[in-house]
Formats: sequence, C-alpha cells, structure tokens
Amino acid sequence: MTTTYPDSYYAASINEADQREPLVGDTRADVCVIGAGFTGLSTALHLAERGFKVVVLEAGRVGFGASGRNGGQIVHSYSRDMDFIERNYGKDMAVEMGKMAFEGGRIIRRFVDQYKIDCDLKDGGIFAACNRKQMKELEGKKALWEKHGNTSLELLDAKQTQNYVGTERYEGALLDNSGGHLHPLNLARGEAKAFESLGGKIYEQSSVTEIQKGEPAVVKTASGQVTCDFVMVAGNAYLTGLLPQQEQKSMPCGTQIITTEPLSKDLQEQLLPKDNCVEDCNYLLDYFRLSGDGRLIYGGGVTYGAREPDKIEALIKPKMLKTFPQLKNVKVDYAWTGNFLLTLMRLPQFGRIGSNVYYAQGYSGHGVTSTHLAGELIASAIQGQAQRFDIMASLPQHPFPGGRIMRVPYTAMGAFYYDMRDKLGI
Ligand SMILES: Cc1cc2nc3c(=O)[nH]c(=O)nc-3n(C[C@H](O)[C@H](O)[C@H](O)COP(=O)(O)OP(=O)(O)OC[C@H]3O[C@@H](n4cnc5c(N)ncnc54)[C@H](O)[C@@H]3O)c2cc1C
Repeated sequence: MTTTYPDSYYAASINEADQREPLVGDTRADVCVIGAGFTGLSTALHLAERGFKVVVLEAGRVGFGASGRNGGQIVHSYSRDMDFIERNYGKDMAVEMGKMAFEGGRIIRRFVDQYKIDCDLKDGGIFAACNRKQMKELEGKKALWEKHGNTSLELLDAKQTQNYVGTERYEGALLDNSGGHLHPLNLARGEAKAFESLGGKIYEQSSVTEIQKGEPAVVKTASGQVTCDFVMVAGNAYLTGLLPQQEQKSMPCGTQIITTEPLSKDLQEQLLPKDNCVEDCNYLLDYFRLSGDGRLIYGGGVTYGAREPDKIEALIKPKMLKTFPQLKNVKVDYAWTGNFLLTLMRLPQFGRIGSNVYYAQGYSGHGVTSTHLAGELIASAIQGQAQRFDIMASLPQHPFPGGRIMRVPYTAMGAFYYDMRDKLGI
C-alpha cells in the first residue's frame, strides 16, 4: 500500500504537513480507532470531547483515503433518500433516519467554528437536473427534505439556474442553502489537530494487521499494539482483511477528479457566480466547484472494483468541457483518483461485533456528512447511549450478487443500464 498523499490539488495546498510517528511498543487506551479519515476522526474527536482516552492508528497519513481526496461537497442525507428507506424498511425507519439526515453538516460547521479550522468553507450546494424527469425528482426531493426538517431549499428553473451555474446544460436545479463545500484534506487535518489539542494521540504509518477480540481487545500493528476497551474500525474502502464478514457486502469503487490552473476572476464569475458547489442528478454523476484559490475542481464517473484508470485527465476533461466548453484552452494542473465504498442498497453500514468492536462504512459516495454523523453516533454508543446507533445498525446489510468475483461486472452492468436511462432522459 502506498502511504503518502496522492499528487492532488489538496495535498499541494495543505495548511501544514506535520508527520506523526508510527506506533512502537505497547500502549493502553479506552478506545482504539482504526483509520484517520472523517469517520475515524469524527469518532475520535467526539470521544475526546467526552473525556475518553483515544488512540488513532492510521496506515498512511491523516486524510490519506477518500476524506483527503473527495469533491469537498457537503451533501445532506444519504446516498438513498428517506422515500427509498420508507419503501424498503418502513415509515418508522424513514422518520428516525430523517431526524439524523441533516446533522452531519451541522457537526462539520461546529468543528470548523469551535476549533477554528481553516478549510475554505462556503455555503450553498446545487443539485442540477439534466432533463425533465430529473427536475420532477428534484421537486419531490424538496418536498421530502422539507418534511424531514430542511427548510433552506429553493427550486430554480432553467433560466434561474444560469444565475448560479454558467452553462445551458440544465433543465433546472435545487439549491440547498445548508449544503456547501470545503477543502476536505484541510478539514481532516484540522480535526486531527483539534483531537490532539484535547489529549488524543494519532500514529501514522501504522497499519493494523490484527484485532484480537476480547475484553480488553488488543489491536496490533507490525511494531506495536494498543490494549483497549473498545475498537472502532473506520478503514472504509481502504480496509483489507479486518472485517471479512463485510467484504461480500460492500465494494470499493474509484472516482476521479481533475483541477484546473487558477482561473481569472471573470471566468470564475461566469462559471459559478455565487461560488456554490454542484452535482448533477445522473446515476454516474458529475460534481464540481471552485477551490479557495479560484480553480475548477471537477469530478465524475465511477470505476467499479477500484481499478485506477491510467489517463484521468482524458477521462474527466471531456465531461468538464461538456458543461463548460469555454474551458477548452485551460490547463489541468492536477488529476487523481480515490476510492469510496459502495453497498448494495447504497445505505451506510453500521455495526457492532461482539460487545466492543464497532464499525461504520459504505456511505456509497455521499460520505462527507454521514461520516461526521457516524462519529457522533458511535461516541454516544460507547458512552452508553446507543439508541441512535442501533437504529442505523438495524438496516439490513445485503451481500452483492455474484460474490467477490462477479460483483464487479454485475454492478457495472446495472450502472450501464441506469446511465443509458439518464442519457435518454427516461
Ligand atoms: C474522489 C472522491 C470524491 C468524493 N466526493 C464526495 C463529495 O463531494 N461529497 C461527499 O459527501 N462524499 C464524497 N465522497 C465520499 C467521501 O469522501 C467518503 O464517503 C468519506 O470520505 C469516507 O470517509 P472514511 O473516513 O469512512 O474513509 P476514508 O477517508 O477512506 O478513510 C479510511 C482510512 O483508513 C485507513 N486504513 C485503512 N485500513 C487501515 C488499517 N488496516 N490500519 C490503519 N488504517 C487503515 C486508510 O489509510 C484511510 O486513511 C467522495 C469520494 C471520493 C473517493
């Protein structure tokens, strides 16, 4: 496993690059968290705020995984919404999950505010409709989210949308004023510093090789071990081997991002006059926004099974030019890939193994807010208030059809079908 940051815009614009030492020898903690992405950091910070002694073990560096590479978009709710949850798991479940659907964004804003994290946080996220059918769905989404308490939404017709996104591509949009965007690697590193300011300890380059279950449990790396009362596994798509029972029920997938050279003020105003982030409503969606220093960050597509495509710029730039043809002669400075974890129902997987090993994963591409919620739920559960964690953990976790070998082609075939429907607008 490569354990340095990929050559991304985020790594190049990091606030500080302090390295942390690897774990050597034995140590004791109340809780050992495996993985320093948003799930692990939010859990660690919430626990440290409650007075727990927490050690975080990270195989690479803080924010090495999806959390330090993503689109930086604060997208609320889950990859599937409360209407899907109600149809599949009943009204009570939809109501309970609806109560938590907008909490992750509030947690992020609290952390940024309370710990003075410098991460270019901006308000306002846009869901853009590529056809009439998607616009109808956005009307439904507005009604649904309002029913569950989000009252900061505005529908935009095609003409109004152009005041927010400088393209003729969209039939309309839904603006979520409580959405937004940020520099995800600087958020992760800021959360790590906040955790350390409360006495927490993070070891980098410390890949966990084994969890010896028991009370206490022992978490082992090549050069040390942590004896602890609770373990939290937060490795998501980068985890291998530690949660074998979850591997049939989840699939690492790649998605790629490019970042242009800094754009002139005029061009920034033309593309995104109100500096919102945008994701379209296609199954294989495009997502984009401006960086703090005025570049366009544009992502899209999915590679099932997390293969790393060779030519990311060749893959993503045509998508960007379809939205913004005016960028034809603009240089791309950075291109990178990252892995998220897909589940069959596109809903997150929370669970407890035995009495004291917790996990949360599988946000299916929409994890910036749900990871932060996960940290709060797990910290509360460890503290003895498990009601909300138990609701999430009661969601069924299904295996992918086709097992480990055939799940990739089967899922790619399914995505091809939905992609064709989007292209045909049906
Ligand atoms: C390119 C891309 C764009 C995305 N854009 C968005 C977006 O705009 N909005 C949104 O809501 N979501 C987005 N997502 C999804 C979101 O980034 C993820 O859901 C979220 O960051 C997952 O956080 P995590 O902490 O669970 O996992 P990760 O951030 O992947 O962290 C897991 C960590 O665990 C470590 N680890 C793994 N195994 C071990 C081990 N054995 N020992 C120690 N450490 C270990 C890894 O090194 C890694 O640092 C995107 C994802 C990608 C890849």
